Amino acid sequence: MSKRPGVCLVVSGPGLIHALGGMANANMNCWPLIVIGGSSERNQETMGAFQEFPQVEACRLYSKFSARPASIEHIPSVIEKAVRSSIYGRPGACYVDIPADLVILQENVNSIKYKECCMPSPVSMAETPAVCMAASVIRNAKRPLLIIGKGAAYSRAEDSLRKLVEQCNLPFLPTPMGKGVVPDNHPNCVGAARSRALQFADVIVLFGARLNWILHFGLPPRYQADVKFIQIDICAEELGNNVRPSVTLLGDINAVSKQLLEQFDKTPWQYPIDSKWWETLREKMRTNEAASKELASKRSLPMNYYTVFSHVQEQLPRDCFIVSEGANTMDIGRTVLQNYLPRHRLDAGTFGTMGVGLGFAIAAALVAKDRSPGQRVICVEGDSAFGFSGMEVETICRYNLPIIVLVVNNNGIYQGVDADTWGKMSNLQEAATIVPPMCLLPNSHYEQVMTAFGGKGYFVQTPEELQNSLKQALEDTSKPCLINIMIEPQSTRKAQDFHWLTRSNM
Ligand code: ADP
Ligand code: MG
Repeated sequence: MSKRPGVCLVVSGPGLIHALGGMANANMNCWPLIVIGGSSERNQETMGAFQEFPQVEACRLYSKFSARPASIEHIPSVIEKAVRSSIYGRPGACYVDIPADLVILQENVNSIKYKECCMPSPVSMAETPAVCMAASVIRNAKRPLLIIGKGAAYSRAEDSLRKLVEQCNLPFLPTPMGKGVVPDNHPNCVGAARSRALQFADVIVLFGARLNWILHFGLPPRYQADVKFIQIDICAEELGNNVRPSVTLLGDINAVSKQLLEQFDKTPWQYPIDSKWWETLREKMRTNEAASKELASKRSLPMNYYTVFSHVQEQLPRDCFIVSEGANTMDIGRTVLQNYLPRHRLDAGTFGTMGVGLGFAIAAALVAKDRSPGQRVICVEGDSAFGFSGMEVETICRYNLPIIVLVVNNNGIYQGVDADTWGKMSNLQEAATIVPPMCLLPNSHYEQVMTAFGGKGYFVQTPEELQNSLKQALEDTSKPCLINIMIEPQSTRKAQDFHWLTRSNM
């Protein structure tokens, strides 16, 4: 969000180990983070010191730089290197270890030489011949597709990418956190025909998106076997992962997008609006949108996911941050909830980490407070996802942050059961073997976690209750709020065309 590293301070041993999940999450997402850990005294090392643990070694797998300053004089240069490493090249996590004996050491501050902060990260551009080649491959495409990833969001490529999309009339698909770089309601966004677009495109340009599980590795059957990939990334080692690209453009997304634009300025070109490809995509979008609308209009109770999200979408302020985690909650929510601004969606990400939602919402709220007061954060949580860090509601209330938490509650992990079924299962002998382990207690009143700390809480079961509570929550800016939304415990996503789409997180 800020292009600057977040900093996390932890105590030694278990404190540092608890931070490893977050470090891994940041590193996998290519986000800058600096973790500073206290550690046991060096002269007690190997003796079984309090919370002793090989921390520098442990962090190596979760970071791009992990070090312990040799002395107090070395701290400034190690910190400078950590900051620089976190933002230069592919951003990532860094670890600095400060042993207890350095913490307690008495030193004359004048003897420490402070280091100036590093310069902003240098901007790299692609080689001109490769840019020309890429432009020519795009011009000759029969079924082109741009994929906009979170690298594009990070590099602030929104203006240049929007220009490229509009000037060349190209269809684009955002990845989950690439949403909003070009707005979801842009006429060239083909998010609602995602599978179709991936499956039949003959030229795909990747703007800061890896061909990992999120993009099905770039392989058939999700793609044509002979699809031409044009990869744009700041990390050379990423180029060629899983596929053999037709063109590779090593450089900053924003800079390279401008280089591509120059080519299309020199020799203007537009992908024909009346092409068969646009027609196919539009037709598929229409049928997919109609299918979601139909599910959303179902009046049966408890509500299904689509009903819930369509009511939420109706009321969401355009400039809000959307934070989301959970399985179906996150996957279905992503398809219905729209992003209009770049860097306004945060979710479980590349690593699929649960437990990040409330922390991300708090971070987003703090950024919003600085930049544009009044901006809201909507944190859309599955009930099981909420359980991972639900107690952060206390932090939200302590700082009185403008956050609305929506818990989409299906009584379980993936799916749960209703109270009657639960009762029958629990009454049977050997209940432990009969109540499925993914079932959570039915009808849990998560809104009371919010009221416990002075925030507002709502328990809603009908579309009207949902509409009213969300309206009130958006109007009343004085307090954080949690709306606990009961849905059909067996509700799932709409039927998919292909069996490989039914797995969660696809
Ligand atoms: P998504 O989840 O949106 O598909 P990924 O995390 O897989 O995105 O990919 C983001 C890619 O963007 C990474 O390969 C990373 O190296 C790259 N990246 C990050 N910042 C920049 C930048 N400023 N310019 C170019 N590429 C970048
Ligand atoms: Mg659930």
